[in-house]
Amino acid sequence: MSITPLMPVYPRCGVRPVEGDHCHLIDEDGTRYLDFASGIAVNLLGHSHKGLIGAIQRQAEKLMHVSNLYGSPQGEELAQRLVDKTFADTVFFTNSGAEAVETAIKTARAYHQHEDGDSNRTELITFTNAFHGRTMATISASNQEKMHKGFHPLLAGFQYAEFDNLESAKALVSDKTAGFLVEPIQGEGGIRPASDEFIHGLKAMCDEHDLMLVFDEVQCGVARTGKLYAYEHYGVEPDVMASAKGIGGGFPLGACLATEKAARGMGFGTHGSTYGGNPLAMAAGMAVMDAVANDEFLAEVTEKGERLRSRLEQFIGNYPDLFDFVRGKGLMLGIRMKVESRPFFVHLRDNHQLLCVAAGDQTLRVLPPLVAGDAEFDEFLDKLSAGAASFDPEGA
Ligand SMILES: *Cc1c(COP(=O)(O)O)cnc(C)c1O
Repeated sequence: MSITPLMPVYPRCGVRPVEGDHCHLIDEDGTRYLDFASGIAVNLLGHSHKGLIGAIQRQAEKLMHVSNLYGSPQGEELAQRLVDKTFADTVFFTNSGAEAVETAIKTARAYHQHEDGDSNRTELITFTNAFHGRTMATISASNQEKMHKGFHPLLAGFQYAEFDNLESAKALVSDKTAGFLVEPIQGEGGIRPASDEFIHGLKAMCDEHDLMLVFDEVQCGVARTGKLYAYEHYGVEPDVMASAKGIGGGFPLGACLATEKAARGMGFGTHGSTYGGNPLAMAAGMAVMDAVANDEFLAEVTEKGERLRSRLEQFIGNYPDLFDFVRGKGLMLGIRMKVESRPFFVHLRDNHQLLCVAAGDQTLRVLPPLVAGDAEFDEFLDKLSAGAASFDPEGA
């Protein structure tokens, strides 16, 4: 037997964390790492947040899971909070981002397959270098062939336009189009914010042709960019939105949010999940919302994001052969490199105990916990400087 007990789908590295301490991870052998990956934009509150831990502990003692056969006071409370704070009128809870996107895809299709709709409208237009998850529907929604290989046939009903190119999207709209599915800020694709014109242009096409505007805010949502959701930066509200990653602060939780109109096809019996929205997950979600869904916290993220960004911009000027520019919003930052970002990310991790995330388009993702402060930013810049000074792109 040569296959590992853990199915070998991840090329896992040698870092083996067993404990978290605020913005640091501690390895089996005691090594401390500065964690500016945050479990890929998940651990908004860092690793030992008293409020989140306490909420999960209290709920675990009381009631963990009952299924969706019963009324859910816990789900109603978190759904109401999200409805109060966003464009949405209604929320479906999931356990992951991919499931939240799946629900969003079903919601957009069901809108048109409703008795008042046009059931020919089955296609979603999605965008190059998008990442929507790893289920069959969500890999089919992405044009990235590396995720398709070995898994054909893909799900029908997706057309790929060029990201941030309105003409390319326009050219694909037909009488079969159900809507657009887009990350307002691409995460895996390289921390690429869509332009205002692009998002406003998609919205205008949706208004004109009665299409669904579906945002995938699994990575950019939940305070990461200094707004509760990134669509607020654009002043454009979606019809349907997928949220996950940060929403549970580390507890597996996702959500599909929709307007009343957009959710018209999602009646009794159309969708479901055994675990989705169970009391334990709802307690985690409420604790995260309590911490982040207020103006003071969001203003702090914005201000910290600006501080970190200007320090990064200053820093990269010292290494013009290595770094190109910084992009992103709030504490969702990317350093676009002039070389492949992966070897540098490995170098920072293995030689300087700094955890970031590599992304597409030669980008190094910088995703600190939102509770990081100047002490962590100082440490980050120190490690990054040391890493840049000792990095040999040729030898990597
Ligand atoms: C991570 C991610 C997903 C998938 O979330 P999972 O929880 O891994 O299923 C979907 N969309 C975006 C934009 C993501 O970043």
